[in-house]
Amino acid sequence: MSSFAIIGNGVAATTAVREIRKQSPESKIDVFTDERHGYYPRPYLIDLIAEKRTIEETIRYDANWYLEQDATLFRSKPVTQIEPASKRVITTSTTHQGYDSLLIAVGSVPFVPPFEGLSKKNVHVIRTLDDALDIKEATKESGREVVVGGGILGIELAAAMKEIGGDPVVVTNIDTLLPMQLDARGSNVLLAHLGRLGIEVLRGFNCVKIDGESKATGILSGSGERVAGDLVVIATGVRSNVQLAKNSGIAVKRGIDVDDRMQTSASGVFAAGDCCEWRGQWFGIIPWATSTARVAASNMVVPHSETFDGITPSNTLQVAGIDLTSVGITDPPSGEYETVVEADDEKGTYFKLVMKDHVAVGGISLGDRRVAMRIRGLVNKKMDVSDITESVFED
Ligand SMILES: Cc1cc2nc3c(=O)[nH]c(=O)nc-3n(C[C@H](O)[C@H](O)[C@H](O)COP(=O)(O)OP(=O)(O)OC[C@H]3O[C@@H](n4cnc5c(N)ncnc54)[C@H](O)[C@@H]3O)c2cc1C
Repeated sequence: MSSFAIIGNGVAATTAVREIRKQSPESKIDVFTDERHGYYPRPYLIDLIAEKRTIEETIRYDANWYLEQDATLFRSKPVTQIEPASKRVITTSTTHQGYDSLLIAVGSVPFVPPFEGLSKKNVHVIRTLDDALDIKEATKESGREVVVGGGILGIELAAAMKEIGGDPVVVTNIDTLLPMQLDARGSNVLLAHLGRLGIEVLRGFNCVKIDGESKATGILSGSGERVAGDLVVIATGVRSNVQLAKNSGIAVKRGIDVDDRMQTSASGVFAAGDCCEWRGQWFGIIPWATSTARVAASNMVVPHSETFDGITPSNTLQVAGIDLTSVGITDPPSGEYETVVEADDEKGTYFKLVMKDHVAVGGISLGDRRVAMRIRGLVNKKMDVSDITESVFED
């Protein structure tokens, strides 16, 4: 009987469990997580903070799911090292052995810039269910919340805080919002939307310090400006969690380096999800986690059975009244690309399609889900749009 160990219990890990079980009904599957909860999708954490979901509704897979999958979940068991040659898994309290192959699916960790005063009370990051519970409680007790970071997560978090009676201000050190997904014009349309929702955004504010004695009372910029707030959440991006791989002598670049089969530098040790980097590419989104996990799982069960050929990244932001999707290339760097843009300031809509040699390679849709689906379809199918350029945003 084959035997597999999966380290991590996020979407990459649970996708791999399902896939291994489908392809190998008899095998042994052990899953190790450093958390105390079963699997929950991280986007649900925003709903949990906004009180649109309870904890029970946030956890998608409780103990029963692992029973159904005939997998063993080891909770609160941080893995500190693996031994690639013997496929041994060493946790803070136990050692497990006898595996044929291992999957590292330990996700990413919040990136926190080296601000002064990070250890003060009421300074948070958002990654786990426990982080979300802490932020929800702290929001209820605070007068004003400062969210540092103008990416998708920062904005979704601010909107959730607003829903439960908070008064958030989003602070970013650059002039635009969602720099990874939007161009400057799209960012302005989004700013107008947020203004209508009563969410303040402060741009060009270079936070360097958390102000206050033992508790946060605000943030300070390099030039001495101050934004007051008794709760500070830092949402300035994530980095691949590479510590376990480093401890285990596995090659790491920005993420854990994997080949086209998701195998790491160690034979029989695979990696998937936010923690892995493939051909210099990395994305911290669910489609990346699920597609890399499927390929890794197939190769764990049947060696050399599947290769990865990348994804077209796609992001969505859905907060009250805002429906934003960005896919592929949105802000092309050079003149090789053509773009079609349609904007209506009154309706608050903004659509953009990016093409290369008449083929759709990316786009933005703000304000209309049907247009978003259309753009995503064109990009995913790599459609030649020469004949429909004029009417490309119409039904
Ligand atoms: C609030 C929030 C909202 C998001 N919304 C979206 C969205 O709308 N769309 C989207 O595409 N993406 C979204 N993301 C990003 C998305 O959640 C991640 O890309 C995805 O979770 C990555 O999956 P993963 O399985 O690779 O890693 P993770 O989900 O991070 O899972 C890693 C797992 O490994 C465990 N672990 C870590 N270290 C160890 C260790 N040493 N030993 C044992 N276990 C360990 C962790 O506890 C966790 O169970 C969001 C993220 C957050 C935080």
